[in-house]
Amino acid sequence: MPDNATATAIETIAAIASAPGAAGVGVVRVSGPAVPSIAQALLGRAPQPRHAHFAAFRDAASELIDRGLLLHFPAPASYTGEHVLELQGHGSAVLLDALLRRVCELGARLARPGEFTERAFLNGKLDLAQAEAVADLIAARSQAGARAALQSMEGVFSRKVEALLQGLIALRVHIEAAIDFPEEEIDFLADPAIGRQLAGVRVELSELLREAQRGLRLNDGLRVAIIGRPNAGKSSLLNALAGSDRAIVNATAGTTRDVLRESLSLDGIALELADTAGLRETDDEVEREGVRRAHGELARADVALLVTDAPHAQNDLALLSALPSSVEKLVLINKIDLEHEVEHASAHHESRDGVTWLWASAKTGAGLGALREHLKELAGAGSGEGAFSARRRHVHALQQVSVYLDQAAHMLASRRAGELAAEELRHAQYALGEITGSYSSDDLLGAIFGSFCIGK
Ligand code: GDP
Repeated sequence: MPDNATATAIETIAAIASAPGAAGVGVVRVSGPAVPSIAQALLGRAPQPRHAHFAAFRDAASELIDRGLLLHFPAPASYTGEHVLELQGHGSAVLLDALLRRVCELGARLARPGEFTERAFLNGKLDLAQAEAVADLIAARSQAGARAALQSMEGVFSRKVEALLQGLIALRVHIEAAIDFPEEEIDFLADPAIGRQLAGVRVELSELLREAQRGLRLNDGLRVAIIGRPNAGKSSLLNALAGSDRAIVNATAGTTRDVLRESLSLDGIALELADTAGLRETDDEVEREGVRRAHGELARADVALLVTDAPHAQNDLALLSALPSSVEKLVLINKIDLEHEVEHASAHHESRDGVTWLWASAKTGAGLGALREHLKELAGAGSGEGAFSARRRHVHALQQVSVYLDQAAHMLASRRAGELAAEELRHAQYALGEITGSYSSDDLLGAIFGSFCIGK
């Protein structure tokens, strides 16, 4: 079988599309040009489009494999945009395998993971962000995550990206027109309308970036790194949060002895907690490795939760100063049961210099409710109807766009670098286009669709 890309695109593919091990109905999905002839062979006549036919599926020797429903979706009104056939039989792995083998004898080959959705993308049925949302929907670990993925699949995120893209293109046209008339360039670029237009795009971008970051948390779960000196109560806190939550998804000791992880679900919001080793300077070789890993954990965290207690709070705050500004910072004053100042024992929290302070006791559980509520809020709970899911690469692309726009603004402000500003905007446009796949490399597509399950 030829395996270069063009030949692949016109091959007919087939796969079992039902969930593995699902009882009841099983589905074999087929897509490609051979679908009409395969359907004809299985049914004994040409199927009616989008009509459920009750059929006897037989093998080459006319032996009955199974009885079930046959549905034909002619191109282009189908999931992939090609001719699609769905065969619904009994949900038995043996029967479905036999049916799949029969379909392959009749001219299909086994589909690669994600190949149906890849074809839908290549045929313009979905853009890349929507296609990724299909996989995210299937993999969603929380209801909020599933709802958000559905929104992205419906194109909510893509439409916002598209609107931003249009704004960017309009701006480029404006500036490139100025470059084409060099004698007037200075005047053109001094036009306050250009500055306003750029400012408008930047505002829109930062709003979209915020929403995408929330979408990433809904999709991936909020990553919380618990930090603090030894004995502050980090492990106790992790246990208290996980142990009192009935919906623990899984609890695995980290691959290293230094980072312990818990995944839990707070009212349908996914949370990934990592208890890191202390962050203090050390001469001990092993401990140094632990500290290095703790820093690695922080680099990928959304939230750093510093656990300390009243006597050590001032000292321990230094641990926060080294953290990147993108990390949300929380200070938890633990062990309030030991304190005489009982007023903090309530669900009290306050904000100081952008850092949220909470008071709790991992031992008695006092104050943990407020901590949970706060984490849920950070994870995107209550983010409303329009919340959509996003992936890390989307957030990264938007951050890149932001850098390009900052540079463009800087160049325009100096009023002498129209060409350079235009160049930055062109980069920004490409970075944005990567989200929906208007510009994307084969490597990227391979990585994205390769992570799907077979049959999707
Ligand atoms: P880690 O080294 O930061 O993980 O700290 P641990 O969770 O191991 O706790 C250190 C010690 O503090 C243990 O003896 C805990 O029982 C104790 N501890 C932790 N949280 C509290 C608390 O809220 N109140 C009191 N009284 N003791 C606590």
